[in-house]
Amino acid sequence: MDELKEQRILEFVLQNAVRGDPQSVVDNIDQYCRHKEWAMNVGDEKERQTMCRVVEERAPSIALELGTYCGYSAVRIAKLLKPGARLLTIEMNPDNAAVAKQIIEFAGVQNTVQVLEGSSADIIPNLKEKYQVDTLDFVFLDHWKDRYIVDTKLLEECCLLRTGSVLLADNVVYPGIPDFLEYVRFCGRYDCTNYPSHVQYMNKEDALEKAVFKGYI
Ligand code: SAM
Ligand code: MG
Repeated sequence: MDELKEQRILEFVLQNAVRGDPQSVVDNIDQYCRHKEWAMNVGDEKERQTMCRVVEERAPSIALELGTYCGYSAVRIAKLLKPGARLLTIEMNPDNAAVAKQIIEFAGVQNTVQVLEGSSADIIPNLKEKYQVDTLDFVFLDHWKDRYIVDTKLLEECCLLRTGSVLLADNVVYPGIPDFLEYVRFCGRYDCTNYPSHVQYMNKEDALEKAVFKGYI
């Protein structure tokens, strides 16, 4: 069987990055995906301009990511977390989850990041019982776009959000997630801010949306 692109990304990291250096790992993934093969990582521009600022402002103790892919954004988020904080990241594709676990381990952030293999629909309702989550401080939504609104409502139903919980959603302009944007902007439960940016490794407009939960009003 042909080798998958994600496997080639992993091999590039193993051959070129410095073990235990998360910055070197993400820099090498950016280099590979900018010059060799495009991939759906969040990318350095969005991290530098927005994610970094939003995570540092919120200083989460417990964070959730929906859509791990190769572990690129998980490594970037882990780098921003304070000591003792943890990131749970959900990935339903077993090949991607296997690559992500190796990249996370190579970057040396395996004690901060736990990859949960399965679909968000199955795992979110078990976060409290199985993964000792009370409420989430920060959630990065970057999985399939039809799931953003469904999983936001699921997080609410499962009482995983509290006043001040921050949702950060990628790709709200490209490919665009109008149902999610309409929900968070107009349901009355969130304060929203839009952060214009570009699709990773391309000169194409995109944006992230920050939605800060105001409570169950
Ligand atoms: N956040 C990653 C990064 O920036 O490095 C990129 C994530 S990629 C855009 C989307 C990933 O979400 C894919 O690996 C896909 O398999 C996964 N995914 C999509 N829908 C999912 C779901 N409902 N539950 C879990 N994983 C999902
Ligand atoms: Mg994305």
